[in-house]
Amino acid sequence: MHVDLSSACFTDLAHRPDAPAVIGADRTLTWQQLHDEAQAWAAQARAAGLVADVPVAIYGHKEAAFFVAMVGCLLAGLPFVPIDTLYPRERMLRVVDIARAGAVYDAAAGDFLPGAPGGGTPLAEKDVAYVMFTSGSTGDPKGVQIGRESVVLLAEWMRGCFGLGDAPVFMNQAPFSFDLSMYEVFGTLAGGGVCVLNARDRIASGAAWFERLAEAGITVWVSTPSFAHQQLLHAGFSPEHLPSLQVFLFCGEPLPVALARKLRMRFPSARILNTYGPTEATVATTWIEIDDALLAAHPQLPIGYAKPDSAVWVEGDELCIAGEHVMRGYLNRPDLNATKLFTDTSGRRAFRTGDVGEQREDGLLFCRGRRDDQIKLNGYRIELTEVDAALDHLTGVRAGACIVLRRPDGTAVRLIGFVERSEGVDGADDSALLIQGPDAFGRWKHVLGERLPGYMVPTELIVCKHLPMSPNHKIDRKTLAQWYADMPA
Ligand code: AMP
Repeated sequence: MHVDLSSACFTDLAHRPDAPAVIGADRTLTWQQLHDEAQAWAAQARAAGLVADVPVAIYGHKEAAFFVAMVGCLLAGLPFVPIDTLYPRERMLRVVDIARAGAVYDAAAGDFLPGAPGGGTPLAEKDVAYVMFTSGSTGDPKGVQIGRESVVLLAEWMRGCFGLGDAPVFMNQAPFSFDLSMYEVFGTLAGGGVCVLNARDRIASGAAWFERLAEAGITVWVSTPSFAHQQLLHAGFSPEHLPSLQVFLFCGEPLPVALARKLRMRFPSARILNTYGPTEATVATTWIEIDDALLAAHPQLPIGYAKPDSAVWVEGDELCIAGEHVMRGYLNRPDLNATKLFTDTSGRRAFRTGDVGEQREDGLLFCRGRRDDQIKLNGYRIELTEVDAALDHLTGVRAGACIVLRRPDGTAVRLIGFVERSEGVDGADDSALLIQGPDAFGRWKHVLGERLPGYMVPTELIVCKHLPMSPNHKIDRKTLAQWYADMPA
């Protein structure tokens, strides 16, 4: 059995209905059970008054019911808004409000909860499959609307080009609020395979977690390179323990040469696919299989070539993407849509990524970093200005800003917050840093953690007299980084 994503219907109903479809953190569903539960879910949603195009937030972490709810939404024509429990409650409610969601489905409790105050509103865009919220530079997360046609193209690309075999068994660990995870969701639905959902606490158990993966017989590993890198420490992360593993499917951040080399040594017969793309273009747009020749030739790995039915090119120094897999637009953000979206010469939706790109004469593409303040920390996308805005809200703070500390290879390691007090400080001259313990703002980590997911909370907070500004009145992060480097131990 599998799902025909164009018509949003289960098909091939008699084919292996008892084969597993979803191995959730809590329970396993066969294809027949997924079919039955998703149909029942869609009926329940309709009975709750949810009509086509009204977004539904799904809140939880790796429960089988989370997966059921996403499929139920597809069947009922309801755009789903996946929210992992990684999001603090305040942010979850904010997302529900921005999306004007008609309900929140609590996957752990199996209940529909009230949606946005004043009720849900159908999206102006029709047939949206999901709305993925990602860090926004104004201080609020922004919703990326992905149409059903884009999801169909994603699944066709995976089936036609990735060589994942029949009924692939996907290792899923990325939170469903991160679009990387849509690889496994739509790959499973279209391919009739299995999606193995792994919760954070299970992953932290190390050896026991690898046993679970071995038992499930995973064939495709999907993660950011950072996540795979962390697993190198474990003995269970080896072909002896994971004999069925055939493919590493990476996306979300640069794939370091050193990591790819280590993986090739440890898993000599596994293939490594490096894919690239922003959430705004349905998970990924370019791809390349990494082999020894590429590793020998490039100190920084290429991101490959555009997927079928799409175009990727460099305009100025910026990577641009066109195709039907480009988003329908940010939800209720005409300002951003006007600057980031355009129509290409063949009339297709196109998106300016903000990534610095390079293209060789033979078409091979490289991503050389960002043109703005967006960063990746352990694979998570963060707008530094969103963290700045959260720091601004701390009591007693006039303005806040953060910087990112990086390893020599450029990988982000952690965030450092700086704040300027609201009441002013006497004494030291203007440039002097007043370094006080974070106690100055009491429970600042806790307060920020109510608004931001944990990965966006700086690890240190430094109080300064004045935040340095660049001549164009932007926060001067270079000077902040210098202050930090010069701080006494
Ligand atoms: P997200 O929307 O979270 O998937 O993040 C998209 C951004 O991650 C892109 O715009 C790039 O800056 C970066 N990115 C994603 N995949 C790759 C890759 N394979 N190599 C380099 N950067 C990547």
